[in-house]
Amino acid sequence: MYKNETSIKKREKKNHLLGIPFSNIDLQTALNLVGEILDQTIHSNLFFINAHCINTSYSNIEYKKALQKASIIFPDGSGVSYACKMLGGSLTENLNGTDLFPHFCSLFSEKNKSIYLLGAKPGTVERLEEWIENHYPSLNVVGKQHGYFPDSKTDAIIDQINQSGADILFVAFGVPKQEIWISQNEHKLNTILNIAVGGLFDFYGKNVSRAPFFMRKLGIEWIWRLIQEPTRMW
Ligand code: UDP
Repeated sequence: MYKNETSIKKREKKNHLLGIPFSNIDLQTALNLVGEILDQTIHSNLFFINAHCINTSYSNIEYKKALQKASIIFPDGSGVSYACKMLGGSLTENLNGTDLFPHFCSLFSEKNKSIYLLGAKPGTVERLEEWIENHYPSLNVVGKQHGYFPDSKTDAIIDQINQSGADILFVAFGVPKQEIWISQNEHKLNTILNIAVGGLFDFYGKNVSRAPFFMRKLGIEWIWRLIQEPTRMW
C-alpha cells in the first residue's frame, strides 16, 4: 500500500457491514475525495458494495480481502441502506457506479485525466466509447478491451493499459471477478485509480436499460434488472 493511500484510508470516517468498511458520505464529498486522489496521485482502488456483494464476501475470502484493502468503497442500493438502519444508523446517499459515471466523466475531463475501459462483451465497450465521445467529447479514452480474454493474456493487457498512459482504469467483469482481478494486478498497473463497475458498460453501451428514476431513488433497481434478465439475475 502506498503511504498517501494509508492516510486517505485513516482520515476518512468509515462505517462497517460484516467487516467491510465503506464511506457513508454524500455525492459531493465522494467526488471531492476522488478528485483529491487524482490531484495527489494516490494509487487507489474504488469499489462499490450492495447487499449481494456483502453476501458474496461472506463466502468468498479472496473477494472480502480485496474489499478490505480497497482505499474507497461506496454504498450502492437499498440493502445497504436497510442494514445501516438495522444497526441504528442511516445511509447518507446511495452512491452507485452507474449514477456516478456521468459525474466521474465530468470530473476526469475537468482534471484532464485519461481513462481505459476494460470489460463487457465485444461491441459493448465500443458503444460505451461512442457514448462518451458524444456526451463528454473532452474526456480522453486512451484504450479499451472487452472482458472475455483468457488468463494467459492478462499480462499483455496490463502492458497495453500501461502503454496507453491511462490515469484511470474502469473494470467491468461483474462481482467478485473484477475486484479480485484488480486486487491481484494492482501492483503491475501504473494507473492512479482503478474502479470496478459491474454492469455499467452494459447500461451506457445500451445492452440493458436503466430502471425508472423512482426505482433508482428507492434503491430497488435490482427489481428492474430481474424483470429484464430473469434467468441470469435470479
Ligand atoms: N463480464 C466480462 N467478463 C467476464 C464476465 C463478465 O467482461 O468474464 C462482463 C459482462 O459482460 C457484464 C459485466 O461483466 O458486462 C457484469 O455485469 P453484471 O451486471 O452481472 O455485474 P454486477 O454489477 O451484477 O456485478
